[in-house]
Amino acid sequence: MSHYEQGDWEAVIGIETHVQMLTRSKLFCGCSASFGAQPNEHTCPVCQGMPGVLPVVNAQAVEYAVMAALALGGEVQPTSRWARKNYFYPDLPKAYQVSQYELPYCLGGQVTLVTDGEERNITLTRIHMEEDAGKSIHDAHSDFSYVDLNRAGVPLMEIVSEPEIRSAAESAAYMRKLRTVVRWLGICDGNMNEGSMRCDANVSLRKRGTSELGTRAEVKNMNSFRAVERAVNYEIERQAELLNAGEEITQETRLWDADHGVTRSMRSKEEAHDYRYFPCPDLLPLVIADELVERVRAALPELPDTRRARFVESYDLSAYDAEVLTASRELADYYEAAVAAHDNPKLVANWVMGDVLRATREAAGEGEVDYSRIPLAPERLGALLALVDDGSISGKIAKTVFDRMLTDSDDPADIVKREGLAQVSDSGQLEAWIAEVVDGNPDKVEDYRGGRDKLLGWFVGQVMQLSRGQANPGEVNRLLRERLAG
Ligand SMILES: [Zn+2]
Repeated sequence: MSHYEQGDWEAVIGIETHVQMLTRSKLFCGCSASFGAQPNEHTCPVCQGMPGVLPVVNAQAVEYAVMAALALGGEVQPTSRWARKNYFYPDLPKAYQVSQYELPYCLGGQVTLVTDGEERNITLTRIHMEEDAGKSIHDAHSDFSYVDLNRAGVPLMEIVSEPEIRSAAESAAYMRKLRTVVRWLGICDGNMNEGSMRCDANVSLRKRGTSELGTRAEVKNMNSFRAVERAVNYEIERQAELLNAGEEITQETRLWDADHGVTRSMRSKEEAHDYRYFPCPDLLPLVIADELVERVRAALPELPDTRRARFVESYDLSAYDAEVLTASRELADYYEAAVAAHDNPKLVANWVMGDVLRATREAAGEGEVDYSRIPLAPERLGALLALVDDGSISGKIAKTVFDRMLTDSDDPADIVKREGLAQVSDSGQLEAWIAEVVDGNPDKVEDYRGGRDKLLGWFVGQVMQLSRGQANPGEVNRLLRERLAG
């Protein structure tokens, strides 16, 4: 925790998140909305902004937007309106962006965060739909800039939070949770580095205990959760320093510069009236029928928060464990399949959050962790853990077998047999190992008998090492106590 959070100032953070919807085509034309094509391959007169063309609303985009609204607990508005937001950029050939302004399609909603085992709700102001702009390319030629309009017209949802976020860590947790939800629904791929989720954070500070909002700066250009956390942290500290020095905060837009770890002023903030929003004359008001809302509601999967609560309830997991295991739908499915294969929810949770996630991260290498590619089938994890619970192998040996199983398709029981890894509980063998350790360390035995009880752990460790992890630790403990008692 930085000293500012403990000091006089309280951070007030609101986040606007742009979520690119995974539709096949764009919001107002039939062009492909997919990422990675040759520049301007996916364009037509509508998304190039040619005069005289007419936009047609993409029904799939509306349905996805309704899914997001319902999943986030927002209220879908029966009628909303498309507006023109006027500004001129080279990557926006119409010189306006079609967005929703005073009548968005969704009001309210919330995002639930679990931090340090505590639940907290961040209220949403609104969600609206809008089209994306194109992209200017400045570094391809020394004398010219290019423009790529593939992204122009791609459907976005803008999810706007109330200024209820209080720290940099909470900002990142908020973004993570939003990504979990949109991926869970399958309506956005959530790839921040490809720009399919982007956010702007409005950061201001106020004296702790007051309710008035301070002057805010808007921070843009953050393309990872880590960037969000670092940028917001930097901004909180920058503003606290200025305020502590008796200076004023300028209302402005600032860009996050990840290379230097600083935010930089980009432009003073424009106000909504500068955009001269007005209803788009080419588009009728958007009417979302109750039937559509009810159909989408009926088809929603069990959502992350509900599933997290169920995990706590049915499997007796901590809030933290349940939160980790519901970080993605695939991971939650994996966990439940493993529990179905071996009914010990707590043991399975520990293994999934430990070795399974480690192996999944290692398999991803430098890339992003992909929970749909967990390198060990849940049934095989269940079979391995059954061997631990019936005493065939120790937890330590199970880790060795687990690593073998990543590259070996044999049953865990066969791997144990083949490599002679079975746990030894036979007292004759255990006593032989114990005798070797005890006889080899008379000075330690003397210390132990003289009152250094903690040495028992050291003896257990030596025997386990001698047995290459195969000795049954419970039995070793029991037999060692007897033997050392003299
Ligand atoms: Zn088009």
